[in-house]
Amino acid sequence: MKKYFQNIWQAVKTLLIGLGITLKHMFKIRKGNVTLQYPEEKWPRPDRNIGFDPKIYNVIRSKLHVDIDDCIGCRKCERACPVDCIKIDTIKVPKETDLGLTSYGTTKRLLVSRFDIDMTECMFCNLCVYPCPEDCIFMTGGPNSEKQPLDYEYSQYDRSKLIFTFSNVTKKDIKRITTPPPVPQEILKND
Ligand code: SF4
Ligand code: SF4
Repeated sequence: MKKYFQNIWQAVKTLLIGLGITLKHMFKIRKGNVTLQYPEEKWPRPDRNIGFDPKIYNVIRSKLHVDIDDCIGCRKCERACPVDCIKIDTIKVPKETDLGLTSYGTTKRLLVSRFDIDMTECMFCNLCVYPCPEDCIFMTGGPNSEKQPLDYEYSQYDRSKLIFTFSNVTKKDIKRITTPPPVPQEILKND
C-alpha cells in the first residue's frame, strides 16, 4: 500500500517539475532563445575561416548576380562554366550605335540580348567570376555586400523560376537598335 502511494506521489512530483520548467520558460522567454520567427528573422551566416581574407575573397557562395549594365557580352564567364549553365546571346550593333560605357570605362559594342543562369545546375564553383574583365558577375554577400546583399534564400515552387534572366533587352530594343536609320530624302532625290 505504501509503495502504491509512493508511486502516485512520484508521478505527481515529476508532473509538477515538468510544469514548473515549462512555466519558468514561459515567463522568462527571451527573444531568440526558443526559435526564430522565420522569415521575419534569420540566423546570421557563421563566419568561416578557410585561410582567405573574407574582405577580399567571398567565402560565401550564395547566389550569382550580374550587373548587366556593365556586361560587354564577351562570354568569358559562359566559356568558363564547367556545367554550361550560363547562356548568353549577343547582337552586333551598327558602328554608329552608342551602347554606352561600363563602370570601368569600356565601350560596349555588343547588345546582350540574353543572359540566363540556370541555378538548378549551378554548382557554385565560382569559376565564372574570375575571368570577367568587368567584375560584373559575382556571388552576392561577403566583399560584394555593397553591390548586392547576401541572398541565400531563393526557394521556388517552380524550377523554371530558378533560371535567372539578367538581360533587360526587349524585342523592341533589338529592332530599334539594329534597324538602320532611314536614308535622308535629299540623297534619294539625287539618286
Ligand atoms: S558558379 Fe560555377 S557552375 Fe555556377 S554558373 Fe559559375 S561557373 Fe557555372
Ligand atoms: S565575363 Fe563578364 S563581361 Fe563577359 S559576358 Fe560574362 S559577365 Fe559579361
